[in-house]
Amino acid sequence: MNAKLDTTVTTRPVTRQTFDEVLVPTYAPAAMVPVRGSGLDLWDQEGKHYLDFTSGIAVAALGHCNPIIVEALTKQANTLWHLGNGYTNQPVLRLGLAMTEATFADRAFFCNSGAEANEAALKLARKYAHAKFGAHKSRIVSCLNSFHGRTLFTVSVGGQSKYTEGFEPLPPQLDHIPYNDIEAARAAIGDDVCAVIVEPVQGEGGVMPGNPEYLKELRALCDKTGALLIFDEVQCGMGRTGSLFAYQGYGVIPDVLTVAKALGNGYPIGAMLTTDELAKTLSVGTHGTTYGGNPLATTVALKVFETINQPAFLERVKEASEKLIAKLEGMVRDFPAVFSAVRGAGLLLGLVVAEPFKGRSKDIQRAAEAHGLMVLIAGTDVVRLAPALIVSDAQIDEADRLLRLAIADLTKA
Ligand code: PLP
Repeated sequence: MNAKLDTTVTTRPVTRQTFDEVLVPTYAPAAMVPVRGSGLDLWDQEGKHYLDFTSGIAVAALGHCNPIIVEALTKQANTLWHLGNGYTNQPVLRLGLAMTEATFADRAFFCNSGAEANEAALKLARKYAHAKFGAHKSRIVSCLNSFHGRTLFTVSVGGQSKYTEGFEPLPPQLDHIPYNDIEAARAAIGDDVCAVIVEPVQGEGGVMPGNPEYLKELRALCDKTGALLIFDEVQCGMGRTGSLFAYQGYGVIPDVLTVAKALGNGYPIGAMLTTDELAKTLSVGTHGTTYGGNPLATTVALKVFETINQPAFLERVKEASEKLIAKLEGMVRDFPAVFSAVRGAGLLLGLVVAEPFKGRSKDIQRAAEAHGLMVLIAGTDVVRLAPALIVSDAQIDEADRLLRLAIADLTKA
């Protein structure tokens, strides 16, 4: 029988090896395959338990299978799934109201991912400058080591050549400057710049918080030159730093804000938020997406947004952050040959790998996994922790215990 016609395909046994056989090899996933989750608990195909301090790269902020989100999604799944852009729907209108009421923005555009939110922001900036100042104002300034997505435009804007090599020719008029370097920003941001895009806390680039003076200076330079300031809060937004959005903690207001990841807790959705004046640039027919703002995604996002946007919830994120930072500082003290520093903000934290372990963040990640703790890396020299924002004190203690066991293994070896 032709395997492609096997009607039992939905129940056929699959393993990690199946990945290597049928999926495009863009990733190198772990050897174990998670099959079930609840809160910060995950179980793999063998029934082994893991404490998840990754939340799917800062996505499942309310934990896996959170009952209130499951309930909202299930109800909507029995009501209405999708409409084309010829119709609007109630959940997207409610989400638009909630997000604009809670931020500087007057308008929201919904899409399906962080890359798409940034693509919309960058296109808006180009078009706005084109109409208001002329075609010469088209340069985009971003930071080295930043990450803004994988479409050709956004990956080119992110300043990591390892992600663009071989995909040339890249879009023109893109400049990359060192992060947190005020002088470099002053030199780069001139009258021909239409947008400056920056992560208030760099995630993929090594869990690096922006200096408040740096972000303030970017605001001032954009005001001076008429460039739009775009904050990419795809990773650091939605309560992750202890403020609803990181810009609110910094007190620096962007012209455009991009959000994704935790907004859907795992259901794909992205958003670009901006002002009335700028939103007019994207008039009917100038931009769009089939799924953006569909009732399923926006129902989930509204529930997530309402849950996170509560003073007590955000207070708890700050409290959990302090507790986790104290534990991580203890790791640095106790294992100076492995870790040299802790950095980051809120519950987006990085353990910087010390000289003797340089380049070995992946080994540390694997050792932690062997002890049942899932962590992320951010490059080869930073172990990144991004637990769900609902993490308990007991789970922080347990993560500390498991990571210590992992490091003990590695240092023994
Ligand atoms: N921007 C930032 C800061 C990110 O961290 C990411 C993903 O890691 C993206 C954009 C891209 O988001 P997505 O993978 O949803 O396209």
